Amino acid sequence: MNEREDLLRLVSELRAHAEWQLATGATGSPRGERRTPAAGRRATSSSAPNVEQRASAAAPSPAPTVAPPLSPASPGPAVLTPEREAAKLRLLELAAEVKSCTKCALYAGRKQTVFARGNPAAELCFVGEGPGADEDAEGFPFVGKAGQLLDRMIAAMGYQRDDVYVCNIVKCRPPNNRKPEPDEMGKCMPYLREQLDLVAPKVIVALGATAVEGLLGVGGGITRLRGQWKVYRAIPVMPTFHPAYLLRTPEAKREVWADLQAVLKQLGRTPPPAGRSA
Ligand code: URA
Ligand code: SF4
Repeated sequence: MNEREDLLRLVSELRAHAEWQLATGATGSPRGERRTPAAGRRATSSSAPNVEQRASAAAPSPAPTVAPPLSPASPGPAVLTPEREAAKLRLLELAAEVKSCTKCALYAGRKQTVFARGNPAAELCFVGEGPGADEDAEGFPFVGKAGQLLDRMIAAMGYQRDDVYVCNIVKCRPPNNRKPEPDEMGKCMPYLREQLDLVAPKVIVALGATAVEGLLGVGGGITRLRGQWKVYRAIPVMPTFHPAYLLRTPEAKREVWADLQAVLKQLGRTPPPAGRSA
């Protein structure tokens, strides 16, 4: 490792950071190039602090659900081993069990259960809190506004949307999007435990305080916990801010990007550079 390599790495990290800022609709980036109209539209947000208000005020055009991939680099799924095939089948079975679950009070208010989306053999798994209204309506996790931001985070890391596996602590929508109660999380956790055992990712990203609490049983602010590796059943867990929080607090994207860089490093990957990835 010489100075030149250090410098090159630094440059690549800076470019990746700029790309991340652009991808997640960061503020204040100097007239960046937009590779796609869709990404560009969303990246041109002003620096107005109240993102939510802006978002809810008559959005000019419906945002696409799937963010365009920013990098062609993607660990495409290989041919499945027999164990993987079995795990995939068991995941389908488990999703069917969840569909008829009435173990906690949340079943009463759901339109449908929300089990997971993405690659059941993923090396990277994101765990959120629980379904919101959009997820309850569609039956998949992270398909609303926060989900669109999550998709941009996934793309900025160099993955295709469905390379990763995405799920939640509870599978049914809590009324009025309240935080799930400890007993609801406790009742639902066996599903997530088996889910994660079957997917067996190399890294889990815990999105927000509830995910950290559910997975690790530790409370205390996410502000303090984020960025520090933990372990869940022998799998490294990186706690970070929830994308819904990022929608309200865009300046926290810097920390999340640092956390996701650490995740990529743990996975032996480098963030895609701003241009074409290697
Ligand atoms: N927030 C979550 O925590 N999970 C979802 O699926 C959607 C929003
Ligand atoms: Fe069952 Fe989980 Fe839904 Fe509660 S939240 S009813 S435990 S699937």
